Amino acid sequence: MKRPILVSNRLPVTIGVDPTTGEQNLNDSSGGLVTGLRPLHEGSGGLWVGYPGAEPSEEIREQLAERNLVPVDLDPQDYVDYYDGYANDAIWPLFHYFTEFGSYVPEQFEAYRRVNQRFADVICDLAEPGDAVWVHDYHLMLVPRMLRDRGLDVHIGFFLHIPFPADETFRILPQRVEILRGLLGADLIGMHTYDYTYNYLRSVRRILGIESQSGSVRMRDHNVRVEAHPLGIDTQEFITQAYSQEAERFLTQLKRNIGDRQVILGIDRLDYTKGLLLKLQAFERLLERSPRWAERVLFLQLAVPTRVGVETYQNLKNEVERRVSEINGIHGSPLLSPINYLYQTVTPGELCALYRVADVCFVSPVRDGLNLVAKEYVACRDDGGGTLVISEFARAVSELGEALRVNPWDIEGTADELERALEMSLGERNERMMPMRSRVIQNDVHLWVRDFMTSLEDTDAVPAGVPPMLTSTVLAESLEADFKTAEASLVMLDYDGSLREFSDRYEDATPTDEILDILNSFGQRNDVMVFINSGRDHQTLREWFGDCPIDLIAEHGAWMKLADENEWRLLGVLDTSWKSDVAAVLENYVERTPGSRIEEKETALAWHYRQTEETLGNWQALELVSVLENTLRGEPVQVLHGAKVVEIRQQGLTKARAYDLVLERFGPFDFELATGDDRTDEDLFEHVGDNVHTVKIGSGNSAAKVAVASPRSLREMLMALLRAKTELGRP
Ligand code: UDP
Repeated sequence: MKRPILVSNRLPVTIGVDPTTGEQNLNDSSGGLVTGLRPLHEGSGGLWVGYPGAEPSEEIREQLAERNLVPVDLDPQDYVDYYDGYANDAIWPLFHYFTEFGSYVPEQFEAYRRVNQRFADVICDLAEPGDAVWVHDYHLMLVPRMLRDRGLDVHIGFFLHIPFPADETFRILPQRVEILRGLLGADLIGMHTYDYTYNYLRSVRRILGIESQSGSVRMRDHNVRVEAHPLGIDTQEFITQAYSQEAERFLTQLKRNIGDRQVILGIDRLDYTKGLLLKLQAFERLLERSPRWAERVLFLQLAVPTRVGVETYQNLKNEVERRVSEINGIHGSPLLSPINYLYQTVTPGELCALYRVADVCFVSPVRDGLNLVAKEYVACRDDGGGTLVISEFARAVSELGEALRVNPWDIEGTADELERALEMSLGERNERMMPMRSRVIQNDVHLWVRDFMTSLEDTDAVPAGVPPMLTSTVLAESLEADFKTAEASLVMLDYDGSLREFSDRYEDATPTDEILDILNSFGQRNDVMVFINSGRDHQTLREWFGDCPIDLIAEHGAWMKLADENEWRLLGVLDTSWKSDVAAVLENYVERTPGSRIEEKETALAWHYRQTEETLGNWQALELVSVLENTLRGEPVQVLHGAKVVEIRQQGLTKARAYDLVLERFGPFDFELATGDDRTDEDLFEHVGDNVHTVKIGSGNSAAKVAVASPRSLREMLMALLRAKTELGRP
């Protein structure tokens, strides 16, 4: 296993001060994540980098070093601006869709960047080749890019423990580009659920214009994989705690005080994402509708203090406490209060006793990256009793399908489900709880760590994805020997952007004499089969190349016409059912985007925006792609974003498929060359075998083996190949 370097805002220990001696000491932190990561850290000789909470004394530094913990020294004011400021007042609210609480102060972002840089510097100083650096959470989203830019030979992983919002929300963030790019420095980005990875990749495309494929983003210098890894809990530890002496003692006391009332339990940090006021409202609604519950149920709500002193949180606390007294005042009796509200933390043993005593665990955040409380409750219910009522906005819901699911905003619906939970038979409770429990036990935090690390180490196997750029001479020399001796060669040439430079108006990019000369020379050889394999419509290709002795493939693989044939053949079954709907959308975009135009082909429609003002064109194109992808879901079409064109084409008719048909009918060939510059050519490059010489025109990522800089270099290379063959004396 690689040596792990864990990186998180805080170290798994905090520096405290002994009140009697005034000396610093170290306190171990608890919490699910720390428990999960600790074995990885301790068992591997790896390092853990983070802020220890204060400037360590020399003695504490030594103790940290003995435990392989690396403190990051930070300026205290920077820490406040970075942590309380940008991380918790900008990213946290926005990523939880609380846009009204977000404040985006440029100076705080500067501090965020400085602190991230500090972390990156510390990591760079200690990283060794082959290490696996695993950066955690929203405080450190710029670190992956900073590490990448230093050119370290390490694997870079990142995990986001909060939601990644939909692009419509994310793009509010003034620093959205830097944040997206920051994460793209990683080899592997992990998030709790597939929805979050989807949201992230959509933002990458809509804001940066970078496409992803099967959850991977190809960058110039590396490949980024974006994966869902839902965090698990330390199930064993919870089960042990649930049956500890402390828990048993506390349970007995609890039962005595509660009597025969049923218990609805809420455990939440007192954060606005947790939906505490809505929760109280739903409980109150239950009491209003069925007053009999007031004496039969106890709602025990533990609110764990968090960000104490911050005004928004203070206001929330006041409001929650006001509502609790109001409900107790109205629905309570001199003997019983329906709500027992506690503003404090409890010990692990007490927590597990609460889980054991609760007939219903009520988890109803309005937004939650995952929610561990739900999983912990399930883990502690080995008696199969208890019912989980969980908000559909707590993403743990996707693993807890047997729970009763509520929309916390729907007060009536939530009250219904609470009542259903209270009235549920033991048999049904058991049937629902057991499958959830085995899932939670199986997918524990240790598996989560192992899976992520395996995936991160695996990133080695991913090719960097940038083919080496060669000059036309060097490329020709490397191909010459094979080409000269080949008895049967196949040359497939893309046209626009490959053989011919783009022009402002696509109809102006007619073939030059130079291009026609090259094609004629290739075409006249009977040992070379040469295709123009283009996205152009077939009428245009015939008009331009009808007199050349070459074969033609049009509309990205939809049509084929051989040199000695007159008719075009469709390489599949024509389906134009989608066209009128798409045309309507494109017309709307033409109206809204001066300079853009629609090109109609038989199997495709293309929206060209080369003549549009650049910023507007790029923006509209990204929007159009997502509009189309939504409206066309399930339709037999593919949306392609090419060079200044968005093309919607019939699915299945690809350049790769046309290549297969050529091979089937005319192969085998002992020399094969395929060239191209855009997405449709990538389909072909990825598809062909290793023996095919694939050449990308232009820089950037590609599945091609090599690249040349421009159409001109390609033409020079082709001419050099022709010369080599002619010199051999075979006309
Ligand atoms: N918890 C705690 N002290 C308490 C009560 C709860 O540390 O007094 C823990 C609880 O066991 C859970 C975590 O706090 O592991 C809350 O995690 P969750 O994902 O539910 O919400 P978050 O607070 O991370 O938003």
